[in-house]
Amino acid sequence: MHASPTQVQHFIGGSFCPSESDAWIPRENPATGAPLRSIARGQSEDVARAAGACAKAQKAWGATSPAERSRILLQIADGIDAQLDALAMTECEDTGKPLSLARSLDIPRAAANFRFFATAILHETGESYRTEVPQDALNYVTRRPVGTVGCISPWNLPLYLFTWKIAPALAAGNAVIAKPSELAPTTASMLCEIAARAGLPAGVLNVVHGLGSEAGHAIVAHPQTKAISFTGGTTTGAAIAGVAAPMFKKLSLELGGKNPTIICADADLTVAMPEIVRSAFLNQGQICLCGSRILVHKTRLAEFMEQFTALVSALRVGDPLDAESDLGSLVSMEHLAKVTAMIARGVKDGAKIVTGGAPPARLASRVAKGAFLSPTVLLAPPQDSQCVQEEIFGPVVTVQSFDRHADAVRMANGTRYGLAATIWTRDLSRAHRMAGALEAGIVWVNCWMLRDLRTPFGGMKDSGVGREGGTEALRFFTEPTNVCIALGARL
Ligand code: NDP
Repeated sequence: MHASPTQVQHFIGGSFCPSESDAWIPRENPATGAPLRSIARGQSEDVARAAGACAKAQKAWGATSPAERSRILLQIADGIDAQLDALAMTECEDTGKPLSLARSLDIPRAAANFRFFATAILHETGESYRTEVPQDALNYVTRRPVGTVGCISPWNLPLYLFTWKIAPALAAGNAVIAKPSELAPTTASMLCEIAARAGLPAGVLNVVHGLGSEAGHAIVAHPQTKAISFTGGTTTGAAIAGVAAPMFKKLSLELGGKNPTIICADADLTVAMPEIVRSAFLNQGQICLCGSRILVHKTRLAEFMEQFTALVSALRVGDPLDAESDLGSLVSMEHLAKVTAMIARGVKDGAKIVTGGAPPARLASRVAKGAFLSPTVLLAPPQDSQCVQEEIFGPVVTVQSFDRHADAVRMANGTRYGLAATIWTRDLSRAHRMAGALEAGIVWVNCWMLRDLRTPFGGMKDSGVGREGGTEALRFFTEPTNVCIALGARL
């Protein structure tokens, strides 16, 4: 895979290689603080090499039949399954997430992404329209691959989100230059090896590692990348749009979220409570879909707080390798410092820490220097507090109460984000009305993160532009042409 297990190299034109500059970025295990691997620090010259490899490979790949592409992508999915243990362990080392979570969520979903798009391209339907006025004609739409595309993904669900972009891009016949986050890049390199073994031609998938401001920027700015699919923070998304938009590139931006969880007066808390805890703290709260703002009807607040606090305080935070750990470490000490600063800000604004707010009291010696934080509940911050308005992306939730359900919608919509929302109620008419009024790309009713890969995935407002998933992704990674055939005089 890498030249040595301690180095993560680029994958360009079918081979692993260092940067032309031979520069490296050190990375430590965030749960232990121990040195982990060196990551190749790619620059524009490395991206240019990858673009050259794409130019050589894309035409032939784009011309293969959907059945042939499907066959190779299904083999990649099988290859991911076969390496479940190694991939999960690597994800755990890179991110600090519990090994059990990487095994049950991240890696199976990466394989599912490949299977989904491998089979989706076998069942595509086309558009055609019979036109009668002013003249008899048949309009139909053909789709071709965009060509070379850039895919940039974050560190929180590394292989899961990387493959969510790569799989549809490859399925649609494109060549890809991809960059995972330099904080969690290793499984992307392992995937390249799996893809090569599955028969993906050299140059079709290229991975350039490095910093966002260097390798990431170079991918976005390269004239050959005609579409950019990006998942990450809202500020980074704006910077990317600033480069790509004047070059008239296609852009898909999946950005931050500050997702409300609304607990209506009639919510069934027995069913809801375990899911609310999971939605708040899964992956240490580092999922763009996490329900980080809990809004509770005032008649249920006392009961909610009692049950919620008991469950949250009982969550076990510790060594990601320990099967008993519910939460592992955050992704880095720097990120931990940002998260704790947001908690302090919330307290200054008037919120009360009900539980958490500090590292766990006892940690095994192996992880004593890790980036750990106990799950934290901030009660009753004002709506304009930064801890309500801005994404914290850590194990921190705010709890606010509301009087009327219309107030809940107003509070839910009262941030710049619009990714997801969850409603807990027994009244499905109310759920339907609220879902229509919530500014969110995804609304879950009586569930959370229940995903069907056919549905459009993405956010409104500052949470993004465009949608991923199913047909939306395949459309993004293709260019349509409308063919209009005049049918001439009738017989
Ligand atoms: P960042 O925006 O910091 O980084 C995301 C990716 O973009 C990384 O690979 C990063 O590289 C790269 N990058 C950074 N700057 C540039 C640039 N100027 N040009 C090109 N690429 C660049 O996000 P994080 O990695 O910190 O991820 C957390 C964020 O991702 C959260 O805001 C979260 O909400 C969001 N997210 C959104 C999801 C969604 O579907 N809406 C899903 C998951 C996460 P590097 O890391 O090497 O700097």
